[in-house]
Amino acid sequence: MKALKDLVRPSIWNLKPYSSARDEFHGHASVFLDANENPYNAPYNRYPDPLQWQLKKRLGELKGVDPQSMFLGNGSDEAIDLVIRAFGEPGIDNILSIDPSYGMYEVCANVNNVPFRKVKLNKYFDLEAEVLLKETNEQTKIIFLCSPNNPSGNNLNRNEIYKILDQFTGIVVIDEAYIDFSSTPSFTSDLQKYPRLIILQTLSKAWGAAGVRLGMAFASPEIINILNKIKYPYNINQLTQEYVLKMLEDTHPMHKQLNRILSERNTLESTLHRVPCVIDIYPSDANFLLIKVKDANATYEHLVKEGIIVRNRTNVTLCNDCLRLTIGTPKENNKLLDALNRMPV
Ligand SMILES: *Cc1c(COP(=O)(O)O)cnc(C)c1O
Repeated sequence: MKALKDLVRPSIWNLKPYSSARDEFHGHASVFLDANENPYNAPYNRYPDPLQWQLKKRLGELKGVDPQSMFLGNGSDEAIDLVIRAFGEPGIDNILSIDPSYGMYEVCANVNNVPFRKVKLNKYFDLEAEVLLKETNEQTKIIFLCSPNNPSGNNLNRNEIYKILDQFTGIVVIDEAYIDFSSTPSFTSDLQKYPRLIILQTLSKAWGAAGVRLGMAFASPEIINILNKIKYPYNINQLTQEYVLKMLEDTHPMHKQLNRILSERNTLESTLHRVPCVIDIYPSDANFLLIKVKDANATYEHLVKEGIIVRNRTNVTLCNDCLRLTIGTPKENNKLLDALNRMPV
């Protein structure tokens, strides 16, 4: 393991962060004349809590993570970008990821001009640590993993992930956007043991709150401090903080929806086996199924004509003739099945 100072970009390590009015005064007062806010239109006239402590406390209870080990972002996408900006020196350091996986790692690396390399998964869309580690070099600062993986839907082999955590000296990001759907536990319980591990989760999938934009990064407090230092001061707006706190008061609706989605995934999977144009259905621990069909482009167009939009993944590594189907309501899934059954083969 490397010292954090040797992983963080020197300019970021030495950065003196912006200090807002809300940062500079802590405590109780009755008159706030320090932030040039309009005194009317409460409560939205006030800047929100820059570190979202109330929300982190509640999320901490749910996730079993200390609020000091938590970063909240405008979706996980903000965390992905900040991790790359914190650790990847443009044109010098490099980032490694698995292929296929979520497209934002590469886009963010490119935006930041940090060289990005992908290592192909095996034919089961699974990770082989040795193959990945062989591609690392002295300038590899970050490895991005995603489990359950998008677009394949499977969990990556846990032992192989541990091999990477044990052997790689830089930052390992595990994107757990789909963890709520998974039968395997989160890696959050390994945060203490692996101080260079960053786990990403989101409210965009199982929680049904993609429009609210709230992503979480869990890591050692020293990594969280670095991310806090470079984020926009008020990156989570007051409306989002309030909405999410309210939503988290009662977790029953989410669990009910989650169980419904999982049972629909099973139904859809077994029914798809009898659809003529379907060749293969890949195992999924997420809220979508990757399927191989006879002709993905033709099937995609056929579905569009029927008013159904799925994700055509045929040009993605290992995904030739594959479509990614999000699990919808029973009615939506039946429409999809009917339309697929009408696909001429
Ligand atoms: C959907 C998804 C996300 C979610 O991103 P948000 O910015 O939180 O909406 C993150 N990672 C993966 C792999 C995803 O598929």
